[in-house]
Amino acid sequence: MNRCIFRYSDRNGVCCTNNTMNLLCPLHSKNKKNKVFYLTNKLFKDPDREINEYEILEIYCLLYKEIFDFENRKTMLYYLLGKKKRIIYICNKFGINNKKDLKENLFNKLINKLEWFCIVKDFKNTKRKFHIFFKYWKLYLNHIIGIQYLPSSNSEDIFSFDSLSSIENIFYLKDNNITYGFDIRNLYHFIKNSGSWNPYTKNEINDYDLKRLKSYIRIKNIIIDNNIFWNTPLQAYTDVVLKMEGNGFFIDINWFILLSFNDIIRVINKYHQLSILMPINYLCNERIHNVYPDYIFKFCRMLMELLNNTDDPEYFTYNCLLYKALTSVSKKFRDAAPSWINDIQPNYYIEINMYSI
Ligand SMILES: [Zn+2]
Repeated sequence: MNRCIFRYSDRNGVCCTNNTMNLLCPLHSKNKKNKVFYLTNKLFKDPDREINEYEILEIYCLLYKEIFDFENRKTMLYYLLGKKKRIIYICNKFGINNKKDLKENLFNKLINKLEWFCIVKDFKNTKRKFHIFFKYWKLYLNHIIGIQYLPSSNSEDIFSFDSLSSIENIFYLKDNNITYGFDIRNLYHFIKNSGSWNPYTKNEINDYDLKRLKSYIRIKNIIIDNNIFWNTPLQAYTDVVLKMEGNGFFIDINWFILLSFNDIIRVINKYHQLSILMPINYLCNERIHNVYPDYIFKFCRMLMELLNNTDDPEYFTYNCLLYKALTSVSKKFRDAAPSWINDIQPNYYIEINMYSI
């Protein structure tokens, strides 16, 4: 028995864990015409090995040699990359970093770049240029992170108490000649909620460091798509609550925390029932499964999409419908709700529009 050679596009390219007598397990045998899996298998024997950007180029160069048709090559590589997050990540490594682009556009830019590398690969100096490019890229990234300020005076993140050595995205700040290391997500969140000062010294963080921090987040793609990222359900719900309170609804974050997975599904269903006649479909663009805390992040992302769209002329109506949906599922929300919220019925939108005519 061997490990199936199919590689997941959303797990940085590690192989399927099924064992099989053939090269592909029954689940993945439909990919048997895609050469990309055979080539990766040939290049990297280890099925648990993740595929980095250099290796994507390496694989593409092999595809370039073996597959005559460009569209065919493109499709095959697409299978290996697939998910937008992964495409953005690889694109960043090649200096393509417009995260607002559609997945297809990004992928096209990437493939054009890879194609170009393949075409000029045999020319002298290209290999060298490629290495220099990555060397500069690495230097630039280190600079953004603040490697030049090491050693750090602390060994744990002040917010999570996680050891800095276990943190994936560290950010260093120098303040009065002392260097502090942070988990960048926690620091960003802190700044967003409490202002831009160093939590160790209470000194203002300067513009240059704030710029570094923002570049870091952009380059490392820590902010994905909708400019929101959270480490904990608490952070996610904090954003939601701040926004809803800003819109005049009194809410305690604990009411959100008490919502179970089933409650959340009921809130979403109720919201759809109430908003059926509304022009925009919020709360429907994420596939939500009962995996904690993932479903909370997804739920909050959907809520934030609604709550952030303040330009919408029906913004307040959407807010009311959301609030109504929450009150109809959670007793905590219901007990604190103003009485007029009870007047909201599924045909609320039509009614208020009739009044406004
Ligand atoms: Zn498989």
